Amino acid sequence: MKELKCLVCGMNINGSNYNFNENAFLYKNNEEHVEYCPFCGVGKEYLQSQQEVYKVSSEEVDLKTIKILDSAMKLEVFNGEFYLEASKLAKSEELKKKFLHLSRIEYTHARVHKNLGGFKELPLLRRVDYTKYEDDTQLLEIARKREEHAVAFYSKNHKNVSSNIIKGIFNALSEVEKEHIVLTSVK
Ligand SMILES: [Zn+2]
Repeated sequence: MKELKCLVCGMNINGSNYNFNENAFLYKNNEEHVEYCPFCGVGKEYLQSQQEVYKVSSEEVDLKTIKILDSAMKLEVFNGEFYLEASKLAKSEELKKKFLHLSRIEYTHARVHKNLGGFKELPLLRRVDYTKYEDDTQLLEIARKREEHAVAFYSKNHKNVSSNIIKGIFNALSEVEKEHIVLTSVK
């Protein structure tokens, strides 16, 4: 397959990684049809081989936008950590894999925000103990609530950011989180 580049997360997609994180998607990529970025999950309209990866200049980013990017980065790390823990706690092998793949995608989102905001590193958050969630249904339930929260966050904040590129990225990531709601609503 022809190599593609994700304009949102900057990853190159090729014959050896197009199916990465495939359990975090409703439809599977194949070599002929790459429908989404296997790393951040955005749709194929953001996968190009000729264009430059999205970036913003510091003049475009006001203080309010930096604060929103900081919150977005924390939200995605929080969800990435949750999925990583949930992948250890889940009983079903299928769900373990799904949670692990979702975790990697949320961490990729966090790195997108880190780069946009020019932050040095991903934050270390206070660790949360999820062991009280005893069964897979409960884990799925909190996963779905977190995804709904993420969608609400992006829709609330996309109008408050000072750059059209960031607005576009928030919309693209929000679409990914909407698919995650579907994936975590499956019983
Ligand atoms: Zn991507």
